[in-house]
Amino acid sequence: MKVASTFSYNGQWLHDELMSKHTSWRVGGKADNYYIPADLNDLQHYLQLIPSNADISWVGLGSNLLVRDGGIRGYVIGTLNALKEITLGDDGLVYAQAGVTCAKIAKFCVKQGLAGADFLAGIPGTVGGALAMNAGAFGSETWSFVAQLEMINRQGDLINRTPEEFDISYRRVSQFDNEWFAAAKFQFSAQVETKESNIKQLLQQRNDSQPIGLPSCGSVFKNPKGQHAAKLIEAAGLKGYYHGQAWVSEKHANFVISNDQTLAKDIEELIAIIQQTVKQKFDVTLETEVRILGEEL
Ligand SMILES: Cc1cc2nc3c(=O)[nH]c(=O)nc-3n(C[C@H](O)[C@H](O)[C@H](O)COP(=O)(O)OP(=O)(O)OC[C@H]3O[C@@H](n4cnc5c(N)ncnc54)[C@H](O)[C@@H]3O)c2cc1C
Repeated sequence: MKVASTFSYNGQWLHDELMSKHTSWRVGGKADNYYIPADLNDLQHYLQLIPSNADISWVGLGSNLLVRDGGIRGYVIGTLNALKEITLGDDGLVYAQAGVTCAKIAKFCVKQGLAGADFLAGIPGTVGGALAMNAGAFGSETWSFVAQLEMINRQGDLINRTPEEFDISYRRVSQFDNEWFAAAKFQFSAQVETKESNIKQLLQQRNDSQPIGLPSCGSVFKNPKGQHAAKLIEAAGLKGYYHGQAWVSEKHANFVISNDQTLAKDIEELIAIIQQTVKQKFDVTLETEVRILGEEL
């Protein structure tokens, strides 16, 4: 459907789109509007069509998102397979748009003989999600490699920013109002090359310690300073604990697993039970790493 307007769009504008199709827990109600842009230029136009008072949410691979059962009012921008450009510039920087997967960056860098991106291989997210979360693994974090940012605002303008303009910490990144990540330039080292075998080894380590293949959102909670959330949850006796159709993984206690009957409500309530139990037993507050979006039924 094209709207009668001076602005046209070429992406896919979906109405009442089930968010369970776009999240790794496979739960979540309908989004009023879900837009998959044709490319960055198309997204610039589409954003101008959105009423100025409507909420805008962003989704990459949905691997760190709990969308509630009542769904999302307003507009959701889905970047996966949409903002997908990745290039190596003459400046030696890797330019990657928000919808490029982390795995793709890792592979691209191997091909280009660049080192440092191997930690991204096993993170099932997009550049946009990795930037928003400061995703990290095996001692490396996304923002350690960010050289420049290309932001997009709700008027569809592109804005260049530097990493110094953001406040970055463990799984937390400050945000500018009504501005999101369109792309970033990354500085990876050309000194030591990453080999395909390094990536295979890191993926194996993940497989050995995490319930890969079952629907999850990775680690639900951040590690409290000097402690491991998984160890606290296990010590609280919650490994394997069920609530409704959601349960704490037997393999890694910071993972909550779902099945095709699970409601977002089951997961959200289980998160609260874990937080209360750990607080009672160890007086430690577990903060969620997972982002919770949308309305209850
Ligand atoms: C099996 C498994 C293993 C995992 N392992 C790790 C790990 O080792 N390390 C780690 O850090 N994480 C891990 N995660 C969590 C997750 O993969 C990361 O947080 C990832 O960066 C999320 O990316 P995404 O594209 O899926 O983001 P989403 O889940 O789609 O979104 C996450 C947040 O980013 C925001 N966002 C998305 N795109 C944009 C954008 N373009 N601009 C602004 N905001 C945006 C969303 O609105 C939301 O708030 C794991 C998850 C799973 C399922």
